Order: sequence, then structure tokens, then C-alpha cells
Amino acid sequence: MGFCVLCFRACRRDFCDVCEAGFLEAQLQGSRRFGKLHSTDVPILSSYAYRGVCRESILACKSQGFRRLGPALVRRSLTCESLQERLGQCDVIMPAPSSLWSRWRGSLDLAMMLAQGLADAAGLLVCPPPRSLSFRWYKQALRDHSQRRGVFRSHQKIYDASYFEPHTPTPLRSARLKVLIVDDVVTTGHTLSELAAFFKHVDFEFYTLASAVRPGKDHAC
Ligand SMILES: [Zn+2]
Repeated sequence: MGFCVLCFRACRRDFCDVCEAGFLEAQLQGSRRFGKLHSTDVPILSSYAYRGVCRESILACKSQGFRRLGPALVRRSLTCESLQERLGQCDVIMPAPSSLWSRWRGSLDLAMMLAQGLADAAGLLVCPPPRSLSFRWYKQALRDHSQRRGVFRSHQKIYDASYFEPHTPTPLRSARLKVLIVDDVVTTGHTLSELAAFFKHVDFEFYTLASAVRPGKDHAC
């Protein structure tokens, strides 16, 4: 007999019946699974709404040291069929860069853990994001400071498909290299779209565990 990784009730699986019910309640279905990125038309696939048990688990895993939650969340995300389908189409997995600021505070890099877990399950390799980008994202203020995102980007190095070379299977699964970018929580999609913008001649798919995007005019479904 084991214990629920979140609430420590006795149970046989990762999560007890109560927590499991919470996950089912937060699970996104159908078109609600696909949020739109802020600046492009690329849809982001998300498994859960960022609330309830899902939000609790992510926060507990990242900042309260409940490390067993990471693998449990990965295993749970793998039950999503749309995600399985995407894993079958992509060549490489890249986690969104975690900020140095949060690493310094000791939070766990859940995006990296998720990327590694999905990669292991699908037999793919993880390619880390360019190092310089985690410096870029170490504070929100840095991005707000530069309202002109075009100008901000022009100072950045733009990478092409060769960046992924050591992690790419041969032959590719489609005509162009396809990379799955994963993150734990998506709010605006800015980080994901900016990360994708640092590469050319590469196609991207996006997956996040939880979506904090509020349904509004733009997200009517
Ligand atoms: Zn529980």
C-alpha cells in the first residue's frame, strides 16, 4: 500500500480517489484543450485547467519540494491521446527555459521534468533551449522593459535547424524538423511564441500541462 503523492491518503496508485476526481474535474476536453498562442495561429495543447487539484499539485511540486509529484504528473499527462499523437509526429522535445531566478530560489524545473518524461516514453531526445534565453527570461521585468519586441529580438541570435542536430533522429518524421516545446503552465503563450521565434526553418508544436488562459472573446469555443 502506498500513499497519494499529493495528500498522503493511503492508495495504490499515484493519486488517491479524491485527488483523481479533482484531476478529472480539471481535465480539458475537446476544443478547450487547444488554446491559441498570443501572436500566432499555432494552437497549444493543454491537459488541464490551471485550478483545483491540478494547480495545487504543480505548486507543491515546484516550490514545496513534493518531488514525487513530478513523475506522477508526467505519467498522468501521458494518458492524453492528443499528446500521444503529437509525440508520434515530433522529432525532438524542448522544454521552455526556466528562469535562473526561480532556480536560484530552489524551485524544481517542472518543464524540464515533463520534457524528459515525455521523451523517455516516446523514445525521443530532449534538446535544451539556448542557454542565453534563460538569462533573458529571468525576470518578467526584462520583457516588459522592452515593449518593442521586434527590437528586442533583433539583438538575439537566431538559430536554425542545425541547433537540434545532435538530438535529431535520421530520417526525420516529416519534411521539416518538428520540435515539441513543453512547459508546465501557459498563461499568455508569450514565452512559447518567443522561444519558437528564435528558430528558423523549424516547425513547432506546443504542449503544456495546465492552461491558465481565461476563456474570453478570443477563446470562445
Ligand atoms: Zn490524494
